[in-house]
Amino acid sequence: MKPWLLDHQQLLSQQFSGNTLPHAILFNGVTGAGKLELALWLINLLNCQNASQVDNKQGPVLQSCGQCKSCLLLKSNTYPDLLNVIAEKNSLGVDDIRHANSFLQKTAHLGKFKSVLIEHAQTMTLAAANALLKTLEEPSNNSVIILLTNDIEMLLPTIVSRCRVLNIRPNVGQTLLENMPEVNYSLQSAAFSDTSMAFVNLTQLPELTDQTINEAFTHFKGCYVNYLQGQHVESLLLQQLLNNEHALRWLEQITVNLLREKFANINDENPLLSSEFLNKVYKVIINGCKVIKSYTQANKQFVCQQLIMDISAVIEQAQINEQES
Ligand SMILES: [Zn+2]
Repeated sequence: MKPWLLDHQQLLSQQFSGNTLPHAILFNGVTGAGKLELALWLINLLNCQNASQVDNKQGPVLQSCGQCKSCLLLKSNTYPDLLNVIAEKNSLGVDDIRHANSFLQKTAHLGKFKSVLIEHAQTMTLAAANALLKTLEEPSNNSVIILLTNDIEMLLPTIVSRCRVLNIRPNVGQTLLENMPEVNYSLQSAAFSDTSMAFVNLTQLPELTDQTINEAFTHFKGCYVNYLQGQHVESLLLQQLLNNEHALRWLEQITVNLLREKFANINDENPLLSSEFLNKVYKVIINGCKVIKSYTQANKQFVCQQLIMDISAVIEQAQINEQES
């Protein structure tokens, strides 16, 4: 179990023992944060016939036995009182949720609980979300709905407000790296400064574990920094934003790290990249990311172009200010 999940396990253990477990729980966290791991631990605990207490460093946590009938059925994915709802294409449709709703209406076969696990809950269509809303408003007895998402902003606020939200925040920096044996340390040096390593998080694991992605990141970073310094490489950046699934995240991350380096007073050779300037660029990127995420593929080119134009406007203004001073 990832060390940052322990606090959540403790809380959920207490709620389970005290019969105060919420009917609907939403685990929110980036990919790799351990949402599914935590959800499966909880589902096992709910259904195990011989759960016992295990003392961890920070305190007691309940644990399923792994051997009773329920545990064995769960292990073989044949437990009749659990329904795992997974998006078939890229979205969860209303039929999937209706099926889950009627599943929850029936009484449990084996254990006390009926549970529904909804992965990638942010992919629910509007109709699906509305169908779920009814069930969340009038939960049946001993039903537990667990939703997982890596993007809570894409969920209807009415769904979120009817769930107990557990935000899973993985460690960052060195503590994270110590818990991630798959990190390839030789990939750090070229693309990451000491400052950016101090803030490294799970979203950056692709470039810390994969040589090809790391090289693409290094190339993108060089290109982007040149752009901020006045080189006209807009079309190259745009191609990256459109074709590389990581590019948008990189844009945000590199800007944040440049800002952090400013505050740490290192890497200060270019006066054009002032913290004020970087802050403006960062705001433009954050707004752009929000818009891009909410658009369909057909509009992506347009909104990415818009983002580049907005950043270019900030750069041009900085250059004008520079000449005047
Ligand atoms: Zn068991």
